[in-house]
Amino acid sequence: MAALVSGRSLLTSFALIISSAVAIPSPATNTACRALAVAVPGRVTFPGEPAYATENADYWNVGLRTDLPACITLPESTEEVSTIVKTLGRHPRAIFVVKSGGHDPNPNHSQIPDGIVVAMKKIKGATYSSVANVAFVKPGGPWADVLTSLEDSGVAVVGGRLGVVGIGGYLTQGGLSFLGAQYGLAATNIRAFKTVLPNGTIANITPESNKDLMTAMRGSGAQFGIVTEFTMDAHKIGQVWGGMRIFTANNAATIFKGLHSFIANGDPKAAIITNAMTVGGQQLYMVFYFYDGAIPPAGTFFELEKPFPLLNQVKTQSYPALLAANGVGVNATGSSASFRSITLPYLNDIPEVYSLINDQWMKILAPYFTTVTGLTTTIAYQPLQASLAQASAGRGGSAMGLTATDGHRFILEINCLWTNPSQSDIVYAFSRELTDWVEKQLPTWKTLQAQRAVLTPAGSAAGASAALARKVEDYVPLFANDATGDQDVLGSYKDVAKFAALQKQMDPQGLFAKSGGFKFGPALRG
Ligand SMILES: Cc1cc2nc3c(=O)[nH]c(=O)nc-3n(C[C@H](O)[C@H](O)[C@H](O)COP(=O)(O)OP(=O)(O)OC[C@H]3O[C@@H](n4cnc5c(N)ncnc54)[C@H](O)[C@@H]3O)c2cc1C
Repeated sequence: MAALVSGRSLLTSFALIISSAVAIPSPATNTACRALAVAVPGRVTFPGEPAYATENADYWNVGLRTDLPACITLPESTEEVSTIVKTLGRHPRAIFVVKSGGHDPNPNHSQIPDGIVVAMKKIKGATYSSVANVAFVKPGGPWADVLTSLEDSGVAVVGGRLGVVGIGGYLTQGGLSFLGAQYGLAATNIRAFKTVLPNGTIANITPESNKDLMTAMRGSGAQFGIVTEFTMDAHKIGQVWGGMRIFTANNAATIFKGLHSFIANGDPKAAIITNAMTVGGQQLYMVFYFYDGAIPPAGTFFELEKPFPLLNQVKTQSYPALLAANGVGVNATGSSASFRSITLPYLNDIPEVYSLINDQWMKILAPYFTTVTGLTTTIAYQPLQASLAQASAGRGGSAMGLTATDGHRFILEINCLWTNPSQSDIVYAFSRELTDWVEKQLPTWKTLQAQRAVLTPAGSAAGASAALARKVEDYVPLFANDATGDQDVLGSYKDVAKFAALQKQMDPQGLFAKSGGFKFGPALRG
């Protein structure tokens, strides 16, 4: 093991030297860096300085740590962010990205080789107003810190499921939470965005001040400026029940059965993340459980209560303690990392759909178990129930466009870790192979669903919930936080044309249209 680790760090150092040697920021970017150093003295750091090294080492995807930017700005206030954006506006040929937690694994989203990183690390913390029952959440730092600082007030906001996750990207790109089926996507819990707009002015965007912009910002990433504070609805919370359990692969059928039952029938106070992990051709199942209460009623997790776990961390605890426990070790993968995602309708009469996907993934992966160094993959099957869509719509909705009449869905997240950065293209390609295959199967699965529904018209349940379970949702927008850079996430939103026009109106210079993250792309150009 020690030999492996030192071999890996040697490789990383070598890659660092190579990429340092070839790093040539454009003259426009160099000029902008120098202008920033004058505009916000003491807040800009350059290669070779300790603050630069610390910030650049703070990416979850280790592969991004060798993408060296020309300079990094570390503002400490909204006013400084405003000065930075105004300065960038005077240097439109310089390239820049916004970074909060640095957990987005996609190249050029919160990291940019030879460009400028506006890092929000120092704008952090959360406070609670009992009068308005809202929390003021800053974008820097991890979710665990936010929830811990709200704990004494007995409230929580809808945030990440693992305490280590960053805040700014999570919230501006949607946000799946253990509290989502009760209160909606995290972004729909935002009451106001304190934002530095593309022209550098500071605005407090609310549904009252600009309803369309509010909706667009709830899920479009960094396309409308840099958010320096989120005003979020607070929710009462006490002791919760949850944690992780690991199961052997012979429990797969029971686990998928439980997942299928849960998506259509789960209590909104409960949540799960069902993960199939593959290392060297062997699989393990890692399931995260959550219940908003000290003890869940028996049967809350259906068949997921049955298998005997290899490891069991589930217990009654505080919400921040649960999130902290869920994040242990997650930042220390030492690997390159990728996400890819697809959203699928719930197919009530095809309970085998999860194992079909899993089998196909094993087939796709087979040639790579031994050829891609250090390969570990995890497929997360994440419920996106109708209750979450209803709660999201009830809070004014988000850019993703979920509505109160939507059917159940689930989100597939493919996460790969590998240790040889030169193999990244291989990993991206085989991850794409799975989402392409799923997309191709979907029409067949929908036909099969319709046929089986005719054969057993009564189904397993009766009434409205049975009808909802059988509703095959046609609108399946991609989920930004789990997607890869080449997926047209914003183009999958039903209101993309409206949001793209708004982006053009807010940012006529196109400053943020070319900055990091998902973009309106063809919709903006067209
Ligand atoms: C271990 C792990 C667990 C995760 N768990 C969850 C989960 O439970 N639920 C979920 O929904 N997602 C989850 N994610 C995905 C996560 O939400 C995204 O990676 C998200 O981008 C992380 O936020 P961040 O602040 O670290 O983003 P960053 O990497 O800093 O930025 C991501 C994008 O957001 C933009 N951005 C960042 N800050 C701002 C800002 N202040 N203003 C405007 N734009 C900004 C950036 O420009 C960039 O395009 C998880 C990721 C990891 C690695």
